[in-house]
Amino acid sequence: MPELPEVDALVSFLRAKVVGDFITRADIGELSILKTADPPLDAISGLEISGVSRVGKALIVEFDGLELVCRFARAGWLVWHDVVPTGPVKMGKGPLGLRIHLASGAGFDLSEAGTKKNAAVSLVSDRAEVPAIDKAGPDALSIEADEFTSALAGSTSRIKTVLEDQELIAGIGNAYSDEILHAAKLSPFAPASGVEAPALLETVREVLGRARETLVELPPEKVKAAKKRRLRVHGRTGKTCPVCGATIAEVSFADKSLQYCPGCQTGGKKLSDRRMDRLLK
Ligand SMILES: [Zn+2]
Repeated sequence: MPELPEVDALVSFLRAKVVGDFITRADIGELSILKTADPPLDAISGLEISGVSRVGKALIVEFDGLELVCRFARAGWLVWHDVVPTGPVKMGKGPLGLRIHLASGAGFDLSEAGTKKNAAVSLVSDRAEVPAIDKAGPDALSIEADEFTSALAGSTSRIKTVLEDQELIAGIGNAYSDEILHAAKLSPFAPASGVEAPALLETVREVLGRARETLVELPPEKVKAAKKRRLRVHGRTGKTCPVCGATIAEVSFADKSLQYCPGCQTGGKKLSDRRMDRLLK
């Protein structure tokens, strides 16, 4: 799933490419992607793109009086076309969710790999009309120390769960929470209320800030691979920890998994899947 650093990279790329350009057409490739009906998607045809921004993991394309809020879910991403294909779009076939045509002849797709279609696009007059945006907590890169401290102190959940809770801290998902906890030498199962918040916030800023710096210069098609190359524990089950040399372990649950280093994070102890059930509650 694209998280804060990847979406920031997209924002930076798109800003340079599309602000000041006009939308000529929007094609829907997957009906379920569009979450709003009024105004209709056609309302953006003819409008000038005035800005591109981000809230948490969501990308927002701005017009005068309208905002297109794009949420990528786990397998969604943006495909840029210097020359956008103008042929008809086959509905419900393949990864294409939404295709935007620009007056310059360029364009971009919101595409989603796999059969689960969870990416979401909402056309609204104000981003706060989208509940996930309205409820989003402070951004992970700009959250104040006291807000971060009270988010942790007021929680009865495990630290991994708190870092991924978009209503407490916006922008962090499964990959960077693994990376942050590895860098902070904390077990993903540590109770959030017992974690030393100021030190962890430093690590949040370091890990996300470094990732953002690396990715922000890249075009969309290079971002995912560049993200993956930089990860130290996430998605690296069975490989060697670059910090301590221990073997990276995994806890898997129904539809995803987390990775951690027993050497760095749990005093050599393996976490069991049974405890994961409790983490989810
Ligand atoms: Zn390690």
